[in-house]
Amino acid sequence: MINILSDQSLFSEKCLIKTGEILRQCAHTSVRGVDLRVHEHTEVQAHAVVVASGSSPWVPPQLEPVKALVSVNDDVFEWTDLPESVAVVGTGVIGLELGQALHRLGVRVTFFSPFDALGPISDPAVVTNAQEVLGAELDLQLKSSVDEVEHDGTAFRVAWTTSAGEQRQATFDRIIAAAGRRPNLGGMNIEAAGVELDHRGVPVHDDRMMQCGTSSVFVAGDLCGHLPLLHEADDEGRIAGSNAARFSRTSRRRSGERRWRWRSRIPRWPSSGRDSRT
Ligand SMILES: Cc1cc2nc3c(=O)[nH]c(=O)nc-3n(C[C@H](O)[C@H](O)[C@H](O)COP(=O)(O)OP(=O)(O)OC[C@H]3O[C@@H](n4cnc5c(N)ncnc54)[C@H](O)[C@@H]3O)c2cc1C
Repeated sequence: MINILSDQSLFSEKCLIKTGEILRQCAHTSVRGVDLRVHEHTEVQAHAVVVASGSSPWVPPQLEPVKALVSVNDDVFEWTDLPESVAVVGTGVIGLELGQALHRLGVRVTFFSPFDALGPISDPAVVTNAQEVLGAELDLQLKSSVDEVEHDGTAFRVAWTTSAGEQRQATFDRIIAAAGRRPNLGGMNIEAAGVELDHRGVPVHDDRMMQCGTSSVFVAGDLCGHLPLLHEADDEGRIAGSNAARFSRTSRRRSGERRWRWRSRIPRWPSSGRDSRT
């Protein structure tokens, strides 16, 4: 017998799939769905599931030896003092925002990236311009490779190769890993529900329906690896929730609608227009 709990029951459970796992796609004749295990004590069968567990900072392999000592974005807001020097590994929007702020607070900051990209900028002419403008203020080691990182108990020693092929090294009080984020799917066993993962570990899904293949799993937010922005997560959550609620063999599935508009909520990184999905 399939026991479908009401929404109220589901939401009364704290951390619904926090440490649980998606067990399997139901093979029931009348209801397609997903079995969930919540901790070790509760099993839930649902017509459809929305997974919106966000993403976490990724620590690149070069920082593995000192991983336990490396800071990520959330850690910075717990710092109780300003270090004298910081290495920022990654020149995406988070690394640049935090690093630039620290620089303007008087911290010696060096940015490292194996690429020449800055933030979310995609237009080559604008990238060049941003490199000139930001490079005039910040120490940007673009197209560099971090070769070795060690910690002597007091500071980090970073050895790197510059874009011109020169070997350099410097010491830093702290390192911020800002080299991208990966979906929070650890331990969820989402594949058991028939969901495929791409090379980044992102569930393969239709980015208009937010549905994973033909499964009864829907995804939303930073987990999806699109634009990691709050209003996008909001849109995707509405679409995924709406489609998940309608999901069954008999109901018609409705495509959600994204809002496209001028955006300028993020200081210093406004962007506009449509992306390649439209
Ligand atoms: C430093 C920083 C600055 C940002 N600045 C901006 C900005 O200025 N403007 C903007 O629009 N966006 C900004 N963003 C992005 C914005 O925060 C995200 O796009 C948004 O929070 C994504 O929402 P989400 O619900 O997908 O993920 P989250 O907000 O990360 O929520 C995911 C939730 O799922 C929970 N969770 C994780 N694993 C599990 C599990 N196994 N089971 C159940 N629950 C789980 C987490 O604890 C968390 O509560 C910023 C992000 C960062 C990191």
